[in-house]
Amino acid sequence: MGKKYAAVVLSAGKGTRMNAEVSKQYLLLEEQPILCYSLQAFQQSMIEEIILVCGEEDIAYCHSEIVEKYGFSKVKAVIPGGKERYHSVCYGLQELAQQPRQPDYVMIHDGARPFVDQGIIARCAKMVEQGHPCVAGMPVKDTIKIADEHQFAVDTPKRSLVWQVQTPQAFAFPLILQAYQELLKSEKNGKPVSVTDDAMVLETVMNKQVRLVEGSYRNIKITTPEDLEIARVFLREKDK
Ligand code: C5P
Repeated sequence: MGKKYAAVVLSAGKGTRMNAEVSKQYLLLEEQPILCYSLQAFQQSMIEEIILVCGEEDIAYCHSEIVEKYGFSKVKAVIPGGKERYHSVCYGLQELAQQPRQPDYVMIHDGARPFVDQGIIARCAKMVEQGHPCVAGMPVKDTIKIADEHQFAVDTPKRSLVWQVQTPQAFAFPLILQAYQELLKSEKNGKPVSVTDDAMVLETVMNKQVRLVEGSYRNIKITTPEDLEIARVFLREKDK
């Protein structure tokens, strides 16, 4: 039997930096909610099953206005997320663990990144099949400074070694499930948790190295109103 791929697409949490009534993932981009674009990319890929994680109050909307309306047949469950992103990821992974056949690999993706494409998905798949957990990313274009809490620059990492990390992030399913379960266990035991991406969970909980694979400078996360303007330009170019 071939290797089975699944995806957890994240759409929970409130994006406070957008200054909008509607959560950023559901804002319309050329008449389609932003979330649809990333679901389309996974629907058209080798991924067999998608778990969509959204806000509890958005479950009915996601079922009727996104999954059914756009025919995303690979979405096997729409489940509520948690307080922080890592809770949402963990619930998505636990849902996959309950499916009749567990996946061999899983890609975790921010629903707020509509420009993930088949090339990025394929590069992540190739790397994880070679045995390397991986994350999509791109080398930074600007010099990055590390600041102290008083906003004084205290360090300047060598620019050629600094990457901005994106999603998807791809893992062997049993490994990332175990890492997230241990993370939540240690949180329950009162250990403070501070992780902003999935690779960090493997690095800190499992002490595993994660490879960076080429994403794209277009694979932006829609966070602020400026990002929406850029996204409209990218879409117009895509349609040409
Ligand atoms: O907040 P941030 O922009 O880093 O969120 C990245 C992704 O994680 C978004 O797609 C958002 O929907 C998701 N998220 C989530 N659950 C949370 C917080 C964020 O699914 N509690």
